[in-house]
Amino acid sequence: MCSIIGYKGNAFAAPLIVESLKKMEYRGYDSVGIATLDNGNILVKKGIGKVAQVSKSLHFKNMPGQTGIGHTRWATHGGITDINAHPHGACTSEIAVVHNGIIENYKELKKDLVAAGHTFKSETDSEVIAHLIEQNLSQVNDKVQAVIQVCNKLEGAYAFVAIFGDGTICGSRYDEPLIIGLANDGYFISSDVLGFLQYTDRAIFLDNKDIAFITGKNLHLYDSSGKVVSRDITQVAWE
Ligand code: GLU
Repeated sequence: MCSIIGYKGNAFAAPLIVESLKKMEYRGYDSVGIATLDNGNILVKKGIGKVAQVSKSLHFKNMPGQTGIGHTRWATHGGITDINAHPHGACTSEIAVVHNGIIENYKELKKDLVAAGHTFKSETDSEVIAHLIEQNLSQVNDKVQAVIQVCNKLEGAYAFVAIFGDGTICGSRYDEPLIIGLANDGYFISSDVLGFLQYTDRAIFLDNKDIAFITGKNLHLYDSSGKVVSRDITQVAWE
């Protein structure tokens, strides 16, 4: 299981995300990718290799936008290929998702999604999350409800973060870590405090099945029933 980082704030997202992914390199990985949002368009760049090397060849740091997500992948489902690297989109370019863990029922979910007309690009279990959110959103038109319904369908351990074309970032977890970092100029959401500790030591450790939404300048937390919840802010020790 590898690393996730998301950022929404006043700074350019991609350079921060590259530095965060480097801080989490100790976990080992095979590929890396970033999605940023610029003027309502989600841009995705990803490939096999080390963060520094892929960042240099794909020019990660030039990606525009103050909202973004990044990932290093340790392949469990699907070979080590550029296409299987995260983030994964769905059928429209309205969403991109990064995921840690294993979706154990992805084959059934994928079969139903393909039958409903979805086209998959990768061999990963993770891509079902993007298509499921897209499908639910087309039915309920409410991101919180759509994501809750997706979480209820997923079996296995996961942490995922999604970026939407309207600038919203959301994330949820089950038996994989996902932590919010509260910085002065924005929010981080990461699988590891090392992903944001260089920018802030104020953290919220999400409970299993919590759902975090970062919209505009606000953070909203929900439990698995959609009830608004508040979680303690922890001051993380630098050492
Ligand atoms: N199961 C996913 C994949 O193979 C995520 C792996 C990870 O946690 O890095 O792409």
